[in-house]
Amino acid sequence: MASNPTVLMRLVASAYSIAQKAGTIVRRVIAEGDLGIVEKTCATDLQTKADRLAQMSICSSLARKFPKLTIIGEELVVWVDPLDGTKEYTEGLLDNVTVLIGIAYEGKAIAGVINQPYYNYQAGPDAVLGRTIWGVLGLGAFGFQLKEVPAGKHIITTTRSHNNKLVTDCVTAMNPDDVLRVGGAGNKIIQLIEGKASAYVFASPGCKKWDTCAPEVILHAVGGKLTDIHGNALQYNKEVKHMNSAGVLATLRNYDYYASRVPESVKNALVP
Ligand code: AMP
Ligand code: MG
Ligand code: MG
Repeated sequence: MASNPTVLMRLVASAYSIAQKAGTIVRRVIAEGDLGIVEKTCATDLQTKADRLAQMSICSSLARKFPKLTIIGEELVVWVDPLDGTKEYTEGLLDNVTVLIGIAYEGKAIAGVINQPYYNYQAGPDAVLGRTIWGVLGLGAFGFQLKEVPAGKHIITTTRSHNNKLVTDCVTAMNPDDVLRVGGAGNKIIQLIEGKASAYVFASPGCKKWDTCAPEVILHAVGGKLTDIHGNALQYNKEVKHMNSAGVLATLRNYDYYASRVPESVKNALVP
């Protein structure tokens, strides 16, 4: 597979249009007004009709275009989050929502697509809604303007709806100038690459491999770094545990500053 870039680029190109189509589904469900909310494990772990329809659309399109994906799946794995930021979606914080399609080769995240269905939704009636950001490791990331937080500023972005003491302890230890609490893993990585936040700090289990795969690639493609809270790289092979049990630490620049400030007590509480 790695020796067949044609298949990879076909897959990335398909993921681009498939994520865009999923984005239109995400918008349509809101427009139709019935979100069909189901609690998965608790009141902050939700699924809506949009999650279900987007998931079906993405999976059936991928299966139609790449019938052998399960066979090459031994080395090539696609991680899909049809709707990242579901809690915020149900509360009308629409630009927090993304569709994530990540591609891993031999356990390493190598290509990713992020569709943000409601990008521009507060920019007035004439604004074009939605955008797609994509990237391939070694090639670059596209569909946005790379921007950095002003030098010396420590702006932390973290969870809005899955907060706990560990999360807060870790954020506080970063000595932040500002803390942004927003929904979605995809959304937080977009904040890092657009100069809105300097570090994504989430010292808790809860986030899954499909939340981090595509965003990690986009960040890595522009020279950033995403790991667990201990500094371990994340693995994306088929057999891997879905849960990112040891949290997430991601930055565009100055990774070491943030990594060095994670308290030992936080590290001890989060087993990879
Ligand atoms: P957040 O930053 O809270 O929006 O979380 C990023 C992603 O991880 C979202 O897809 C969440 O659904 C997921 N996530 C994080 N923490 C939890 C949790 N405690 N329970 C369920 N999902 C979670
Ligand atoms: Mg998600
Ligand atoms: Mg989701």
